[in-house]
Amino acid sequence: MASEAGKAPAIPGRRVLMFPLPFEGHLSPMLQLAARLQGAFQNSLREVLEEEEGARPACLVLDSNLRGMQVVADRLGVPTLVLRTGGAACFVAYMAFPALCDKGLLPLQDHAQLNMPLDDLQPLQLGDMVFSTTTPHETMSNCLERIMESARYSSGVIINTFSELEGADLQKIIHGLGVPVYAVGPLHKISPSAQSSLLDADKTCLNWLDKQEAKSVLFLSIGSLASMTQEELVETAWGLANSCMPFLWVIRPNLVQCSGKVGLPEGFEEVTRGRGMVVSWAPQQEVLGHQAVGGFWTHNGWNSTLESICEGVPMICRPHFADQMINARYVQEVWKVGFELEGKLERGKIERSVRKLFCHEEGGEMRWRAKDLEDKATECMKKGGSSETRINLLVNFMMSLPC
Ligand code: UDP
Repeated sequence: MASEAGKAPAIPGRRVLMFPLPFEGHLSPMLQLAARLQGAFQNSLREVLEEEEGARPACLVLDSNLRGMQVVADRLGVPTLVLRTGGAACFVAYMAFPALCDKGLLPLQDHAQLNMPLDDLQPLQLGDMVFSTTTPHETMSNCLERIMESARYSSGVIINTFSELEGADLQKIIHGLGVPVYAVGPLHKISPSAQSSLLDADKTCLNWLDKQEAKSVLFLSIGSLASMTQEELVETAWGLANSCMPFLWVIRPNLVQCSGKVGLPEGFEEVTRGRGMVVSWAPQQEVLGHQAVGGFWTHNGWNSTLESICEGVPMICRPHFADQMINARYVQEVWKVGFELEGKLERGKIERSVRKLFCHEEGGEMRWRAKDLEDKATECMKKGGSSETRINLLVNFMMSLPC
């Protein structure tokens, strides 16, 4: 936000420091927000780093998981804004978590309650609120409490979503928090060049996609953290092979959690030669935006979900943990742009799911609705659009802070 040298009239700048959480799904949205807010972001950052006696920042923008840093900023009298890299529905679910604990529903007592509908959080079910099966309940509760505190004690919450997608949940957050809420997404579209990946993407898959028919390819990727067993890998491989559809599959080095033999089954490569490609990391946003891609098998991390929506790509949802079950529920029940592949992964079920998405009328309807959401995402970024308006409000707020 610093004014550019040599240009008149000079607008007084504000120094804003931004702190992401060092995870794949958290880094890019923070950088994208920075790129949109600060024309001279890189120069400003360099100045801050090179400066011996740093000037006081007007505010800090923190990942919502960094409550500790906020406490320090409070002590120093520096205001903070909090970036939520997840969606609004997830945040509303986090807000409701303590009440479900008070009612004795969480931690889950009985597996028969997994499908219990949550009336105040429709269309969520109790199982969607079991964010981890390995993290102890106490740890999870504390973590969510800190996220809530960081939001409540902030000067505003910035969310990577847009109001046409999650308007009702954004209203709940505004009423529940008592601080301004800025829905400024989709950030990866607003600042497409400010992308940071911890892994190198294999761009050769784009050339391969160029040779495929329009909307014919299934793209499979389960993000940077989720994993599968060797047995699930094998079932997925044969499900894809038997579906006879073209596919692009991301198998990252640590995708399979297994101490024994890891790898694709014998014969798979021969059977799928020419119509399948495997990469260890893909340029996902470019892949989803490619005309050849017609479906996305996703774990429903929020970034992946939003990236799919913004390209009008319908989804096969296979959530693993954290907010992924919530996002998948919304994809299936609210936006109706995909469906969940539930239960044990089994080749016949996978084959049928792929065919449902690509060959059945139901899949076609999902594609049509996804296109509609893509248009809405495009609209909200235009001048006067909902997200563009919120970004301007956010900038105005930052500029109103004392230097
Ligand atoms: N991603 C990518 N290439 C891949 C797989 C994922 O660039 O092969 C990116 C994807 O575009 C998204 C991020 O990694 O921006 C994953 O974030 P998400 O919130 O979906 O999931 P997480 O990794 O946090 O579980």
